[in-house]
Amino acid sequence: MNKETSRKMNRKSTSQKRSTHRWDSRFSTMALMAFVASAGVAVASNDAPWGYSGKKGPKSWGHLNEAYRLCERGTDQSPIDLRDAAPGEGDKLRFEYFPSPLSVWHNGHTIQVDVEKGSSFQNGRGRFELKQFHFHTPSEHTRDGKSFPLEIHLVHSNAEGALAVVGILVELGKRHPALDAVFENMPAKPGKKNVEGLFLNARALLPRKGGYDFYPGSLTTPPCSEGVSWHVLKTPLEISKQQLDAFRKVFKMNARPVQPLRDRVLREM
Ligand SMILES: [Zn+2]
Repeated sequence: MNKETSRKMNRKSTSQKRSTHRWDSRFSTMALMAFVASAGVAVASNDAPWGYSGKKGPKSWGHLNEAYRLCERGTDQSPIDLRDAAPGEGDKLRFEYFPSPLSVWHNGHTIQVDVEKGSSFQNGRGRFELKQFHFHTPSEHTRDGKSFPLEIHLVHSNAEGALAVVGILVELGKRHPALDAVFENMPAKPGKKNVEGLFLNARALLPRKGGYDFYPGSLTTPPCSEGVSWHVLKTPLEISKQQLDAFRKVFKMNARPVQPLRDRVLREM
């Protein structure tokens, strides 16, 4: 915590005492402690700037901020090279995705599409609600060492806040009509952009068939939090060269390199 923060907190605690003078003093102390704790968290998870190249690139993420230390010291990090998967049993993914009003924004690190409440998927561990999807170029996961031009991450969370991501590797081929709505409405600079009257069903991004690779991993961006269930689909999605170029006009490169698998087991379903 820096001096400025503690000064602000002192100021706040004085005004808090003044406005809450009728409180039981024990409660007031507890409230203040709760405030200090939450302020501490806010400081620790302060968004230190990071990027994909140079001094703030992936190799330095773990040093940029105490809150990012897992990027350096974590043992279950993502992405990974998908190879030699052990056979897994069952656990078919069941998707219940519905059309959602399109909200496309540039968050400084990727183009993110926020999804309205109501879409979800189920794996063997339960139901996870779709929150957003976003893009990386080139792909973050590789398959047998092979990189793809783009990767889509569909980010879900369950009632306990556990994260489950469905990764889709993207190759060049036919234009993907459903993605035009996204690629034609990408803000060039950080900031939000809502597209009125357009709806997108994330279901359009899913292949008709094919299994997936499963492994326990992490966020691929700071703070690199672990405990994320990864499901990378076997069947790649196709987009056109024009669509890829449109994305690369906004982001030339926004992919973290592959991380060691260590003791984890990659399973194919
Ligand atoms: Zn991602």
